[in-house]
Amino acid sequence: MALSSIAQAKELRGLGLVASHSHITGLGLESETSLTPRPSSQGMVGQLKARKAAAVILQMIKEGRIAGRAVLVAGPPSTGKTAIAMGIAQSLGEDVPFTMVAGSEIFSLEMSKTEALTQAFRKSIGVRIKEESEIIEGEVVEIQIDRSVTGGNKQGKLTVKTTDMETVYDLGTKMIDALSKEKVLAGDVITIDKASGTISKLGRSYARARDYDAMGADTKFVQCPEGEIQKRKETVHTVSLHEIDVINSRTQGFLALFSGDTGEIRSEVRDQINSKVGEWREEGKAEICPGVLFIDEVHMLDIECFSYINRALEDDLAPIVIMATNRGISRTRGTNYKSPHGLPADLLDRVIIISTSPYSPEEITDILSIRASEEEVELSPDALAILSKIGCETSLRYAANLIAVSHLIAARRKSSTVDVDDVKRAYDLFLDKERSVNYLSQFSDRYIGDNGAVTLGGAG
Ligand code: ATP
Repeated sequence: MALSSIAQAKELRGLGLVASHSHITGLGLESETSLTPRPSSQGMVGQLKARKAAAVILQMIKEGRIAGRAVLVAGPPSTGKTAIAMGIAQSLGEDVPFTMVAGSEIFSLEMSKTEALTQAFRKSIGVRIKEESEIIEGEVVEIQIDRSVTGGNKQGKLTVKTTDMETVYDLGTKMIDALSKEKVLAGDVITIDKASGTISKLGRSYARARDYDAMGADTKFVQCPEGEIQKRKETVHTVSLHEIDVINSRTQGFLALFSGDTGEIRSEVRDQINSKVGEWREEGKAEICPGVLFIDEVHMLDIECFSYINRALEDDLAPIVIMATNRGISRTRGTNYKSPHGLPADLLDRVIIISTSPYSPEEITDILSIRASEEEVELSPDALAILSKIGCETSLRYAANLIAVSHLIAARRKSSTVDVDDVKRAYDLFLDKERSVNYLSQFSDRYIGDNGAVTLGGAG
């Protein structure tokens, strides 16, 4: 069974975001089907309860048992919410779509926020299209090319005769080009995979048959009929609903898939696609494969986006939506009211919540050590210890950022190993959040404030 996968189409936006999780290769479970996380595995450390909950969700996604559900991963900054989502993404089958967007990306100048959300939703729904592909094996007795067609579109007809039947195949440009490239002549015994358009020559060619390139319109060759026609291959293509939308959108055309510049897609196009996909499902030609839409920093969305999500989750064709936030009780954008995690009550009511908690010092040490080897940085044991201390006292992210800087500083003194002094220098050079706040409060009069005022030559 040939499988063309959606893997390339997996939408992992924000490369920086992804790179900082490059050490994560899964949820670190005891086995593929297990729900029990190992303390440290596949780059994942600790956060056992949240990882177990994520494993349950993963299992349900794999079994195709949930769609149209929403999961909220909530917890303080740098507690691995995005890391867990990446772990889920890595464990999904190749043809299960996983789309990752940050809340702020929904607001763009090119399209409305509901269009951006619609596209994100439809990128996360896979359509597995089954195609019975014919492999023809037989002797070419006739090739007819209609050369009158212009604009680069060639059309042709291939007749394959067997002892008991004759089949005429309409050939598209791809197949004609393949015939031409292979210099297929009447009398050749060939195999054609109609789905991929591959043509291979098997046998003899007759001297009296003319070169394909030299053929004019309506050229006809007839040779002794031989060979057989077989139907023996099922091909499965998985594409996302969004890809089908773009390909069928007259204003965009399929090239937009490569540029990503898809603009807004008309709702009539989507309605048509939905009903077509519905027909394919009924005929057994296609099945829906709900994927995952991961919205990081979901609190950046506003009330209209939340209401859109509420409605979209009820749709027949809905993915599973995983959202992450580090907000506590905060204002929902576009409103004046505060709510838990900044999410409106009706959406909160339908989500299941996975919460993450701060790491222990040992876990921080493990994560930093994994990050260092991922970045190919050698840390002396003391350097790792001081980095972990910094991680505990400031934040895991800040400590992780110091790895690369300390490495550069160590390289300046021609050392391949990062030592305590290198970390200290890096710590001196770059402020963490706390020190930056202290500095600001000490020298606030040198900066421009909300009122635009600045006092030069102030304190310090
Ligand atoms: P924020 O709320 O600020 O977005 P977050 O909870 O999404 O934070 P992450 O971005 O997942 O935090 O974590 C910060 C860094 O620490 C990332 O590089 C991430 O890969 C790493 N990390 C976090 N938790 C773990 C973990 N349990 N195991 C391994 N690496 C982790």
